[in-house]
Amino acid sequence: MNERSCDRLALVVGDKPPAMSISWEPPTSPYDSGYVVFFSDLLPDEPGFDDLPTQPVCLHCLVEDGDEQLGRGLDLARRHRQVDWDPHTNEWYTAADWTRT
Ligand SMILES: [Zn+2]
Repeated sequence: MNERSCDRLALVVGDKPPAMSISWEPPTSPYDSGYVVFFSDLLPDEPGFDDLPTQPVCLHCLVEDGDEQLGRGLDLARRHRQVDWDPHTNEWYTAADWTRT
């Protein structure tokens, strides 16, 4: 952890890349980044998903350790509140994209 840049925390579920789903809500405290990131350990409809440990991770470190896919997802989530990863098209999609198709 780097004291100068480590401040805001994201909630992270699982740790196996790629990230599958990211949501964002306006932060409620100066230490909150507003992000919740789900990695691909388990999908939401798989058994055990609800038991996955949720851990706070510094947003800065999350971005540093993540790749471009994660960075782009975080940007999009901030704009659209919620994005999901489509492994077939290798693209993030939003709720708006979903209803259009
Ligand atoms: Zn950090």
